[in-house]
Amino acid sequence: MMKHTNFRILAALSFLLISGPAMTEDNEKLQALVISGQMNIHHNMALMDRVVSEYLEQTGLFDVSLAATPPAGANMSSFSPDFEAYDVVVLNYDGDEWPEATKYAFEKYVRSGGGMVTVHSSDNAFPEWQAFLDMTGVGGWGGRDESWGPAVFWGEDGMEYDYSPGKAFHPKQHEFLVTTRDGDHPVTSGLPGSWLHGRDELYSCLRGPAKNMQLLASGYADPSFKNSSDKNEPVVFVLSYGEGRVFHTTLGHIGKNDSEAPASVRCVGFITTLQRGAEWAAAGQVTQPAPDDFPGPEEISVRP
Ligand code: ZN
Repeated sequence: MMKHTNFRILAALSFLLISGPAMTEDNEKLQALVISGQMNIHHNMALMDRVVSEYLEQTGLFDVSLAATPPAGANMSSFSPDFEAYDVVVLNYDGDEWPEATKYAFEKYVRSGGGMVTVHSSDNAFPEWQAFLDMTGVGGWGGRDESWGPAVFWGEDGMEYDYSPGKAFHPKQHEFLVTTRDGDHPVTSGLPGSWLHGRDELYSCLRGPAKNMQLLASGYADPSFKNSSDKNEPVVFVLSYGEGRVFHTTLGHIGKNDSEAPASVRCVGFITTLQRGAEWAAAGQVTQPAPDDFPGPEEISVRP
């Protein structure tokens, strides 16, 4: 998408722009906007902001800007990022509702071909915003139960939709096996068929409309861990919303007391799928090769 300097300046005035790329005329990089500002009490939002921004920048493909909403409970009416100036909007957000006009602008942006990425607990956000539920496919908490839609698993014949009553949960953090379910997609192409993921929360029985959703990788919820579903839970998936592309990863827990990035987000499996997923959401293709340090099924692989 074209970047219009005038629009960018307007955007900077209308919401808190913490950091942004140098505005050069011939900048060919993809423009990414990370949205933050409020997060539930279980997560270290600031650290996640840094982690996500750094991983996108490391690809050399993105200029990353950060837009923070006002704090919880404050007047949200000033929050109106210029979504159209970006190729992809990355959500690290679980907080107050955005103004109606901003929600509508975001829906329009994605529906008309914009890219969206949702990371870990961002799929806990906005339980009453139907378009957001459609974009994310499934999510957890915020009251979500069977009336929000089915839980989705990977079964013997592919994706399975479970309409029985229940809400999302997760076992205590542990390492778990992630299995690729569609190796032909640009995000997963060339990656191993399965890999051991660094200690993380395995979101389980997420609920939602689950429309236009394609599962790329699942995590097995081994019942030898308490509070496990014994199902292949969706952990990396993509959706379409109108012309827009959505990349959804449920991986990447950073606890509120974590002062340094934990194995969940240092895992090369998390990093690679996030970097590739963001490029795919932004551009519809992936140019990043599979890294040499990608984990296999026996051992985790984490970066410093
Ligand atoms: Zn978490």
